[in-house]
Amino acid sequence: MSNAPFLPYGRQILGDDDIQAVVDALKSDWLTTGPRVGLFEKAVCDYTGAKHGVAVNSGTAALHAAMYALNVSKGDEVIVPAMTFAATANSVLYCGATPVFADVSLDTLLIDIESVEANITAKTKAIIAVDYAGQPCDWDALQSLANRHNIALVADACHAIGGAYNDTSVGTLADITVFSFHPVKHITTGEGGMAVTDDELLASKMRAFRSHGITTDAHQREKEGAWFYEMTDLGFNYRITDVQCALGVSQLAKLDDWLAKRSEVAAWYDSKLNSSCAISLHKAENVRHAYHLYVVRVDDRDAVFQKMRADNIGVNVHYIPVYLHPYYQKLGYKKGLCPNAEKAYEQIISLPMWVGMDEADVDRVVSSLSA
Ligand SMILES: *Cc1c(COP(=O)(O)O)cnc(C)c1O
Repeated sequence: MSNAPFLPYGRQILGDDDIQAVVDALKSDWLTTGPRVGLFEKAVCDYTGAKHGVAVNSGTAALHAAMYALNVSKGDEVIVPAMTFAATANSVLYCGATPVFADVSLDTLLIDIESVEANITAKTKAIIAVDYAGQPCDWDALQSLANRHNIALVADACHAIGGAYNDTSVGTLADITVFSFHPVKHITTGEGGMAVTDDELLASKMRAFRSHGITTDAHQREKEGAWFYEMTDLGFNYRITDVQCALGVSQLAKLDDWLAKRSEVAAWYDSKLNSSCAISLHKAENVRHAYHLYVVRVDDRDAVFQKMRADNIGVNVHYIPVYLHPYYQKLGYKKGLCPNAEKAYEQIISLPMWVGMDEADVDRVVSSLSA
């Protein structure tokens, strides 16, 4: 076992200003939904260029809200990539619909457009594409496919806030875009998430959904009395707190600096690894990569993983193809469904990638990887 300090694959950075913002919220009149929720939503909209933001208590809740707003329900199919976190596909199951797994391209591990097209049926209601590792998908191709078949397009951009495609920011490339503010992501609220959209109706549906399906129509309140509210559909309590949103606003102000730092760490890896094993080297010219993860492909992954962990380097694997999890196997999904995702899963390893790393950390990772 190495005596070197543990280097995690990702972690949050909290400054005194972040802590002060949280303290200010705690001292205010609002703990749960208050003015900071709207401020955070507006800040993310200003940052991404999206018109409406609905902040919730996790990225998973935001995915669920997106599926709900698009009326995904029993009998519907939603196409998702096999190479993602389980929450992407789980959000489809929450609505009683069927996730259909598309394979990914071997070089980028982004959803493969031909596989998406091959999986479209009369039941397909939506596509959720994941900007894996922070690299935006081919959104033009996805959009034209979605338009041609009249299906909705959702971006699971939990890895990609701050990314861009053809100079368009992640957040406006799909009908609904979902972000996560879990501490390993770019900015954090502890737990937290947001769905952004340009569509007012989708936004209002998601807003009701995060609070029990209750609508508070100002008109009706005027007519019926200020106490009046109506539960018009079955929603959840997915509300995020003012305390969390105070942290979100404070963190978002640093995102551009942090993205620059992530690019710098990626560039160190790119130059020092000196091979094409890095997934992010297979990057289209027209994208801005947000570098949530730095994923490389190695031959003897399990041995490399063990060795790097023994060197106190917090490597990880993103991801086990979702349908290989026992729960999905019980649902009847079979091994062999997405060969590229399964092959990649045997080889990939996520190296440490976060804002607090310096060049010496990268050297340490690279020498452990290469030894
Ligand atoms: C983190 C993540 C989620 C879920 O976000 P939570 O905030 O942890 O619920 C969903 N999809 C992807 C691709 C993620 O990385």
